[in-house]
Amino acid sequence: MRLIFLGPPGAGKGTQSQKLAEYYSWVKISTGDILREAVSRKTPLGLEAKSFMDKGGLVPDNVVTGLIRERLKDSDFRSGYILDGFPRTLPQAQALSRILEEEKTPIDRVMSFEVPEQDLVRRLTGRRSCGNCKRIYHLDFNPSKQPDLCDVCGGALVQREDDREETVRNRLRIYEKETAPLLKYYDDKMVLSRIDGWGAIDVVFDRLHQILNTKVK
Ligand code: ADP
Ligand code: ADP
Ligand code: ZN
Repeated sequence: MRLIFLGPPGAGKGTQSQKLAEYYSWVKISTGDILREAVSRKTPLGLEAKSFMDKGGLVPDNVVTGLIRERLKDSDFRSGYILDGFPRTLPQAQALSRILEEEKTPIDRVMSFEVPEQDLVRRLTGRRSCGNCKRIYHLDFNPSKQPDLCDVCGGALVQREDDREETVRNRLRIYEKETAPLLKYYDDKMVLSRIDGWGAIDVVFDRLHQILNTKVK
């Protein structure tokens, strides 16, 4: 199954895509994770992306589209993957459609996670992630067993630079302007499902399963 997870920063895309990918042994492809990795390694891609990411802006379309094109060439990914955080603009969505048409591997469903803005801010400012395995936690809503240590690998939990409140507000504005138009794009293609992202993580996960079971045979 080939899925796209859409939604504003903090909606739970990373958390749910990780759970679903583990459950079905699909691959989760997160452009945010790929870019952060490149930034921490100081590769040419990372050096180019960093200034955009620090301000909460979007990395240029040609850069992220090139990344995804490379990733999707890997034949392991063709049968099942979840795109988390890509596409984020109309040109990215159009480029993705062209890539997948060439390969004759269309997207099965686009899930749009919907969460009220005040909850998004609270989720983002309390987010922590493992510096080693990238697993996502929250200070209040999904705490690790030991403070500041990852349950799975024991790595140190860190706060992302762009999860400070000023940057968060900027990212939410950019979502509305650049990414929200994709809802109509995918609705017109009859592949969009909206999912209520409010509620406990496991409750949202059950909801996600239910939608996938009814919409995708
Ligand atoms: P979140 O899920 O919290 O919005 P991500 O980890 O998906 O954050 O992305 C972090 C940052 O990486 C974004 O704010 C943006 O700067 C950059 N980024 C990730 N995906 C894309 C994309 N598809 N297009 C442009 N920039 C992106
Ligand atoms: P996104 O990838 O959409 O930016 P994340 O999955 O990283 O979102 O979630 C943002 C923050 O909110 C994380 O700290 C995560 O632990 C927390 N979170 C995710 N889903 C829920 C939920 N259903 N209820 C409360 N907190 C959540
Ligand atoms: Zn870890």
